[in-house]
Amino acid sequence: MPKLVIRNGRVIDPASGLDAVRDVFCVNGYIASIGEKLYATGAEEIDASGLIVAPGFIDMHVHLREPGFEHAETIETGARAAAAGGFTSICCMPNTSPVNDSATVTSYIVDRAKRDAVVNVFPIGAITKNSAGEELAAIGSMKQAGIVAISDDGKPVMNARVMRRAMEYARAFNIPVIDHCEDLHLSSDGDMHEGGVSVRLGLRGIPSSSEDVMVARDLLLAELTGARYHVAHISSERSVEMVKFAKSKGLAVTCEATPHHFTLADSDMPPYDSNFKMKPPLRSGCDAGAVTQGLVSGAIDAIATDHAPHSGADKMQEFEKCPFGIIGLETALGLALERLVHAGRLSLNKMVELFTTGPARVLGFQGRGRLVSGGPADLTIFDPDRTWTYDVNRSHSKSRNSPFDGHTFRGGPVATIVNGEFAWRVQ
Ligand SMILES: [Zn+2]
Repeated sequence: MPKLVIRNGRVIDPASGLDAVRDVFCVNGYIASIGEKLYATGAEEIDASGLIVAPGFIDMHVHLREPGFEHAETIETGARAAAAGGFTSICCMPNTSPVNDSATVTSYIVDRAKRDAVVNVFPIGAITKNSAGEELAAIGSMKQAGIVAISDDGKPVMNARVMRRAMEYARAFNIPVIDHCEDLHLSSDGDMHEGGVSVRLGLRGIPSSSEDVMVARDLLLAELTGARYHVAHISSERSVEMVKFAKSKGLAVTCEATPHHFTLADSDMPPYDSNFKMKPPLRSGCDAGAVTQGLVSGAIDAIATDHAPHSGADKMQEFEKCPFGIIGLETALGLALERLVHAGRLSLNKMVELFTTGPARVLGFQGRGRLVSGGPADLTIFDPDRTWTYDVNRSHSKSRNSPFDGHTFRGGPVATIVNGEFAWRVQ
């Protein structure tokens, strides 16, 4: 589709400060102009009156499961779920099989995504070979093949010396190190947050300190090395405080929060419901409140879903045995609108920033996460007031592990445009 004009939407672009009713004219996959009553002869016309037109949302933390676990998700189905959630770009974590720890695997993902994905897919490479935490992966050649960051997500890098070296390399290649902050000795074999609820249910607890000690260690190493360092799925009050402090000292430190960590607490979990089991676990109400406050204060840079599909068979095992993780691409915007915007905590502009310029800044993306003439025509159109109910059985994801099945939302995506073409439109 060569020409598309989106008329009369409220265009919000946090990068330029634009918040006004405008037309957006896209030609051959790029934004040609943004203005009033644009002359767009021969273009397909979309009426966006009453809707928000934003830069394409970026989810910097997604698990696509391909290669290796295609029964749970593929690049194709994960990308469709992303589009249905309003995301035009996603970053996929390397814990596939094989692990994305070499240029060969990176190239495979890049090629598959070109063929199968309706959104832009940016691979994240492993920090260490096989994410085993011992030897550094082939960071330089993965960067050449297209990775945008390194992470052993799913696992922490337990060895501080290895983490230091990884930061030194990442700095040389100018990419961020993203850590899944968890001290495995402190987590032990925990299944949920350590607190009153875990005691009552007789489940083994994962203390907040398991996250906090790793954040503390990593911040010290970030200061030592000068690396760009990013905390994945921050969930505890102390960790948010520490990141805020590190930022105030001028360190190149950033972090992200998931919708479930600012929406739910451990006490919201129906007993032994595996669709509420993830890492880090749902923490106390105080922690969830601190994460929300971190989004408001700017201590937290991005909203990221940690979309983690698992097959029904895997998730149906007893609570202690089933894997950690929930899907989240299709519910992220609805939850952010409900808990942040409609709850009066955050302006629409600020929420859009957390989905666009925020992650773009963390990743060093130049033309994305903002609306600029000549830039890619990636747009998210949403209705902040549309009422809809999430039916997980109609999810575009291959997996069904969501705690938000049946939830009725106020506000959600209406259309997702990638390179000037519709990747998804509401039915
Ligand atoms: Zn993780």
